[in-house]
Amino acid sequence: MFSATTTSRLALAATLANTAPGFRGGRQRPDRLDGAAGLPSALPSVLPGWGFEEDPSNATLRTVRKLRANVAGIWQDAAAEDADAALEGLNALLGAAGPVRAVLPEGSTVRSPAILAAGHEEDAPEKALSTALALALAEVALAGELTRLRTCTGEDCSNAFVDLTRNRSKQFCDEANCANRAHVKAYRARRAAEAVTADQAEKASTSEKSEKSEKAEKPDKATKKNGKAKKSAKKNAKK
Ligand SMILES: [Zn+2]
Repeated sequence: MFSATTTSRLALAATLANTAPGFRGGRQRPDRLDGAAGLPSALPSVLPGWGFEEDPSNATLRTVRKLRANVAGIWQDAAAEDADAALEGLNALLGAAGPVRAVLPEGSTVRSPAILAAGHEEDAPEKALSTALALALAEVALAGELTRLRTCTGEDCSNAFVDLTRNRSKQFCDEANCANRAHVKAYRARRAAEAVTADQAEKASTSEKSEKSEKAEKPDKATKKNGKAKKSAKKNAKK
């Protein structure tokens, strides 16, 4: 669907968006990019391999948090199927990336699909990251696949994820066991409903039985009375 590079960049974009404070996987999570909270290595630990220094400056953290807000905004607009708003956010990111060019990947032929590129090798890691995510999101938009940027439908979870399934059926993030929690909850609800139904059925059958036995008793008495009446009638006849 997307190139391997784009797929891994989209996963990175979701990871970045999900570092924001909020409900994730059923519990309230703090800001994971908060350098002031004693997490000076927040960036390299969250985005390993992106060339961030162990102890990024507060300015770098602020820049990445702004990027995170932009990416999360595009994601929410896409998940809400508001393509215009998503494209507006994407265009702001592309503008910041600078001139975009189409290039052929290494070792390609004339028939290979070109890829989008932007920025320079000497860009700071936060700039390079912003450019990489902008290009990946642009590829999603160009392919008409913005609705693949989804938000977890799990209870108390607002995690972003990319739905790469063939039939667009993914509903839960992979990070927080949300699918499993939802299945357990649905199972328990089903069991509870079954228990209520069974209870009602038992009550119904008990009252039905007592009704039946009442009904069964009445004709009996009636028959006996009839019997007596018949007998007395016979007696009367003999007399
Ligand atoms: Zn989730």
